[in-house]
Amino acid sequence: MSDNLHTRAQQLLAQSLIEGIAPADDAWLRKHLEDCPECREHAAATNDLLRALRAVPIEVPRDLADIPVMVQELTGSHYTAIQMLESAVGREHVSIQNGGLPQARYAALKNGTARAIAVMEPFISLGLKEGAHIIAASFYRGGEVISPDLTPEQRKAFYDAENQAVDLINGDFYKFAHHVTAHAKGALKPTELLRAFVHYKHVDYYDAATFARAYDWMKERGMSEGQSQHAALVVG
Ligand SMILES: [Zn+2]
Repeated sequence: MSDNLHTRAQQLLAQSLIEGIAPADDAWLRKHLEDCPECREHAAATNDLLRALRAVPIEVPRDLADIPVMVQELTGSHYTAIQMLESAVGREHVSIQNGGLPQARYAALKNGTARAIAVMEPFISLGLKEGAHIIAASFYRGGEVISPDLTPEQRKAFYDAENQAVDLINGDFYKFAHHVTAHAKGALKPTELLRAFVHYKHVDYYDAATFARAYDWMKERGMSEGQSQHAALVVG
């Protein structure tokens, strides 16, 4: 057998354990492992190593040093995870694993391809119900993304409607909980959704100081080229 095939098998193996592989690649890999004692041995050794790594408990944020946390790249889960991790383990020990939609990240946590994930509800309540635990948490602060083309009146109407909805939900939480638990596809009853992690609040203005702090932080990490200023992005 050519060396290329073994290299491909071992690359696919690593990829399958970290981010998952396509069904066709998986079928090819299984067939190769059946036929190749050398790669089979490599796969067994890799599995032993992973099992040993997974046996190390993660109990406090510091335990996440160099442990990949699964997020959806360039979304809130990504930025929030980096911020929480940096303060606990230092920038050089932050490890991020790209994982797609919340449902996919939760599936990765359950099947062991991810040891830690960043998720919102209903996957926090679902995780706690199914035996996961929380390492760190942060909350929605009320920033809104809105079209720059709206008139001040239209913008106000949008904010007013949203604020009214927030009051309605906070006034009778479980009347609306089924909208949140719907994403769990039946695995979590609306009554099982915890109140603690859902944080609906009125639209909040993103002030210049908070903006500058977040923007500098992003620019320093190459997440934004920093071509827009507060006044160009934030409206009252
Ligand atoms: Zn091989």
